[in-house]
Amino acid sequence: MRILVTGGAGFIGSNLCERLLNDGHEVICLDNLYTGRKENVAEFLTNPRFEFIRRDVQEPIRLEVDQIYHLACPASPPAYQKNPIYTMKTAFLGTLNMLGLAKRLAIPILLASTSEVYGDPLVHPQVEEYWGNVNPIGIRSCYDEGKRAAETLASDYRRFHGVDVRVVRIFNTYGPKMDPNDGRVVSNFIVQALKGEPLTIYGDGSQTRSFCHVDDLVKGIVRVMGAKECLEPVNLGNPREFTVLELAEKVLALTGSHSKLVFRPLPQDDPARRRPNIERAKLLFAWEPEVTLMTGLQRTVLYFSRMLEIRAIAQ
Ligand code: UDP
Repeated sequence: MRILVTGGAGFIGSNLCERLLNDGHEVICLDNLYTGRKENVAEFLTNPRFEFIRRDVQEPIRLEVDQIYHLACPASPPAYQKNPIYTMKTAFLGTLNMLGLAKRLAIPILLASTSEVYGDPLVHPQVEEYWGNVNPIGIRSCYDEGKRAAETLASDYRRFHGVDVRVVRIFNTYGPKMDPNDGRVVSNFIVQALKGEPLTIYGDGSQTRSFCHVDDLVKGIVRVMGAKECLEPVNLGNPREFTVLELAEKVLALTGSHSKLVFRPLPQDDPARRRPNIERAKLLFAWEPEVTLMTGLQRTVLYFSRMLEIRAIAQ
């Protein structure tokens, strides 16, 4: 098949491109490199089945493809807050354009949504039926509400135009090809530990997240696209929950670093708890994560240490 991956040079997108190429598909990767990185796809450029198009999903595009994975959108809090209006336009217009393409071609489209649609959740763990607790005017709203609007559009394209839409709600994911500077907790802690700098804990570190290794996540995404249908949004994430402090301890133990912990103010609207209920993914797609946090962190530490070594040599 010929498959379009928007945001294909991003962290999850580039891991997905690799998987699709390994499965023998042709991959068109569309990315404007706003947060995506050329180095994430550099190794695919010599593959005749891979094509890179540098372009913004806010621009409509005509292509002939068999499936669309629509991932393009800044996704880490500092990245999506840098230009919130741009983020919201990307979430809405990008999804509108991709749904239009899917409609014209009568092909399936998978929308990468997010656990952020649940906001600071009052239901724990989060089930797909939960409508969320989202501040519509806060600093996270551009992303949260942008993705909620994207889900609305997708649902209406299904109802009104019969488009085969599949929505996955992605929870915190980590692993190789993360951007060391994107400000997420896993990349920050590992890079800080490797450099011997203090680990920055926001708030008191008692807030929780559930971290899914990208290999597990990509398996889930491909499984959802490969199924006959997917009529409801599906949570994809790891149901093991850790506090931010526990994560910091694990990173220190794995890297053998003597970095100290420093405490910084908790950003506004930072969710206190987050953990997916993944019963729907288990039942409908026989999917559940397999990589433990320790194993996944080991692979990620290896990736970041190599990257830092290469950068040190280049300087
Ligand atoms: N966090 C932290 N230190 C950092 C970066 C993030 O303590 O250097 C916290 C952040 O406040 C949040 C959690 O780690 O509670 C996860 O943050 P991240 O930006 O990775 O993703 P989020 O789940 O908030 O979208």
